[in-house]
Amino acid sequence: MTGRSVPEWQGKTPDTPVPPRVRDRVFTTKDGRCHKCSREIAANRGETWTCEHMIALANGGENRESNLDVTCSWCLPAKNAEDVAEKSMVYRKRTKARGIKGRRRTIPGRRFDGTPIPAKWVD
Ligand SMILES: [Zn+2]
Repeated sequence: MTGRSVPEWQGKTPDTPVPPRVRDRVFTTKDGRCHKCSREIAANRGETWTCEHMIALANGGENRESNLDVTCSWCLPAKNAEDVAEKSMVYRKRTKARGIKGRRRTIPGRRFDGTPIPAKWVD
């Protein structure tokens, strides 16, 4: 990096959008490479990319520069899916730790405990 260092950007609220100058800074710091596939993003040829929160806000990540990274358009759907999966895993662990039981869904099928299958389920 050249020039003087600037203080880290931090969103005033989790909803504060990342300003263009910070996006530009993140892109520079990361050498314009996607954090997932480390491919160089051809932004100069119109390739789209996003400035993503490494730890999603939904998963308790902070809206600040150090939690931002570059994600290319190929990897974004995968990143979002991981965030959602992480969120539901965290939720499951938390509710379990707090003694909140989720609804147990039993799958109707053949019973192995000797209980006869109700007549309405048999052809
Ligand atoms: Zn990528």
